[in-house]
This record gives sequence, structure tokens and C-alpha cells, in this order.
Amino acid sequence: MDFGLKGRVALVAASSKGLGRAVAEELAAEGTHLVLCARGEEALAEAAQAADTAGDGDVVSVIADLSDQTSVAGVAAAALDRFGRVDVLVNNAGGPPAGPFESHSREAWRAAVRLNLESALELSRAVLPGMKDRGWGRIVNITSIAVKEPVDGLILSNSVRAAVTGWARTLANEVAPFGITVNNALPGYTVTDRLLELAAALSEKEGITTDEVRAGWEASIPMGRLGEPREFAALVAFLASERASYITGRSITVDGGRARGLL
Ligand code: NAD
Repeated sequence: MDFGLKGRVALVAASSKGLGRAVAEELAAEGTHLVLCARGEEALAEAAQAADTAGDGDVVSVIADLSDQTSVAGVAAAALDRFGRVDVLVNNAGGPPAGPFESHSREAWRAAVRLNLESALELSRAVLPGMKDRGWGRIVNITSIAVKEPVDGLILSNSVRAAVTGWARTLANEVAPFGITVNNALPGYTVTDRLLELAAALSEKEGITTDEVRAGWEASIPMGRLGEPREFAALVAFLASERASYITGRSITVDGGRARGLL
């Protein structure tokens, strides 16, 4: 299947590691030009190198803290300066800390909103005018399986992902007449640094080993194993593609069957 992405410009937020990096490589392999960003210079340079090798588009990387509004504006500006447009925006960021309600201060809530909601709003605000002018655009938000089924102990993530989902569903209707789709890709338990951190936190809380935490997760997944970042990235690349032109306002899981609901 030709995804029709060759020569398109994709901005993938939080793309030095994990799911964001896998998405960047997948889009690079489809022939997009790429703008990557993250805080850590070394990992970002490695990710840019990998994306460069994966395809023949140009790759630009910007060091940025997505919880800082000025920094977020800098990422969008760098993309527009370099390529003059962004056709595909993948909103992503690190996950907020685990812990029950009473463990999080007011500032922790605000930080989670800044990182996981406001970064998506501001990047979208920056690229939407150009998408509307050109009559084509794709916004894909990386949220979480927690939107289908809130995960115990992840109250910040569960809450802010729900806000992103409400925003995205409404935005999808507003921009559909301009040929722009807005969808959410929901990772289940996928092997990345974030998952290893959650395993360590759960292991400490429950007094079991990280291997036991992993075995518990695997037992809850019909496919009996954790996901690989590239399996998730394949969905994002499809949603970003020309071929996904009639899919909008959706939240789609990549979770080995873990979410048990009908929809
Ligand atoms: P990860 O920790 O492996 O990678 C996170 C990426 O975000 C890295 O590139 C990191 O440098 C970047 N980042 C973090 N904070 C940043 C900041 N303030 N500014 C700029 N860049 C920042 O995480 P991941 O597993 O790839 O997860 C990506 C998203 O998907 C997270 O929001 C996570 O909560 C969510 N998620 C992951 C899983 C999973 O199983 N991996 C499941 C559900 C949801």
C-alpha cells in the first residue's frame, strides 16, 4: 500500500526514544521529511541519525522541553522556518509520574497539563493555519490505553489523556472541512523506558520483582506479550497517510487485545 507520504513534512514531538522515535523512523521510511524534538541532546542526535538512515527525507532536530510554552513555540517555528510547512503533527510527550491522588501536588497537576495537554494544543495551534490553507493535514495524538480503561496508580495520566481525547474529538469536527484529520493512537503495554520506569515503581510499591510485574502484565494481554514500539508506530504512520483520509475523531488501541471493551 502506498501511504502517499513521500515528501510530506512530519513533526514528531518527544521523539528521541520509545514510541516517538519509532514513529519518526516509520515515517522516515515512508519518505517524509522530519522534525524531531526532545530535551536530551545525545539521545536526540541518535534518533535523528536513525531517522536519517531509515529514509531519504531531511531530518531536523530541535532540543526542547515540551512542558515549556516558549520551547514548544520554538519547535514549531524551527519546523516552519526549515520546511515552510508541517503536514503531519504527532503530539507526544513523556508520561506524567505514577502515584495516587494524594501524592500529587497542585503543581504536579499543572505540570502534567502543561506537558501532556498544552504541548499538543500549542503545536496544533502553530501548524493548523498552514494545514487549512493547503487543505490537507494529519494530527495524531499519542495518548494511552488508559483512555479506554483507566490504569490504577496513574491518576495524572488517566485524567490528562481524557482531556486530550475530548479536545481532539471536538477539533476533529472543526477541521474536517479542511481535509484535516485528528486521531488518537493508544499504546497498550509497550517496551520502552517509560514502561521500565512503571515496572520499577510497581515493583517497589507491591514488593515484587520487575519480572513479576512484567509477567502480570503479559498474563492480562490476550497476545501474552508486551508490544514493540514499531508495532505501535505502524498505526501512527497509517493514520498519518493519504489512505486514512476518511478516518477522524477516533481513538485506536495497539495493545495486543488488552482493552476488553467492545469499542
Ligand atoms: P519514553 O519514556 O520511552 O520516551 C519519552 C520521550 O519523551 C523521550 O524521547 C523523552 O526524551 C521525551 N520527553 C519526555 N519529557 C519531555 C519533555 N518535557 N520535553 C521534551 N521531550 C520529553 O516513553 P514512551 O513509552 O515512548 O511513551 C510516550 C508516551 O506514550 C508517554 O506519554 C507515555 O505515558 C505514553 N504511553 C506509553 C505506554 C507504554 O507502554 N510505553 C503505554 C501507554 C501510554
